[in-house]
Amino acid sequence: MLFRFSLRFGGPISLFMKRIALFPGSFDPFTKGHEDIVLRGLKLFDEIVIGIGRNANKARYFPLEQMTRLIEGAFRNEPAVRVITYDDLTAHFARELGARFLLRGLRNTTDFEYENGISQVNRYVYEDVETVFLITSPHLAPISSSIIRDLHRYGQAIDEFVPYPMEEPVRTEV
Ligand code: ADP
Repeated sequence: MLFRFSLRFGGPISLFMKRIALFPGSFDPFTKGHEDIVLRGLKLFDEIVIGIGRNANKARYFPLEQMTRLIEGAFRNEPAVRVITYDDLTAHFARELGARFLLRGLRNTTDFEYENGISQVNRYVYEDVETVFLITSPHLAPISSSIIRDLHRYGQAIDEFVPYPMEEPVRTEV
């Protein structure tokens, strides 16, 4: 197929294809570190899809629907950014979206060790996908979702770490 051929060998048609990147993650919550990766990624890609992975085995602090709405609010003036939740292998979801790039952020060597393995597996599953890593901006390197969750859980204000007005987690279960 010409489409696949041009993708694999970087032929002329691929130059005219929209460059869509999938930025996958848990985003529990989405932080200013994540926002920085998206804003810098917009200089490289035509469209960025923020994909919030559903993980049935992992309870979330901020429910998916709430986090989707908050992230959409943060990018309401940025038409090249979409937010979608998914329940599939990241590589399968990227192929379904027509995304040839996965966008990830690297803060330190621990991130690198983890990301290295994941990116190899993603190319095994979807050989045309390339993972693009952006090194975190130094002032945002200490921010992680797990630290933000802990601060919030114990009543510490976290507004300066997230790109939207923070809310209490919406509890749906009774
Ligand atoms: P996951 O559960 O897949 O690790 P996260 O929501 O924790 O998802 O992170 C998504 C991506 O954002 C990962 O590539 C992670 O390394 C990156 N990331 C997280 N925090 C930051 C930050 N402060 N600066 C840059 N990248 C970050």
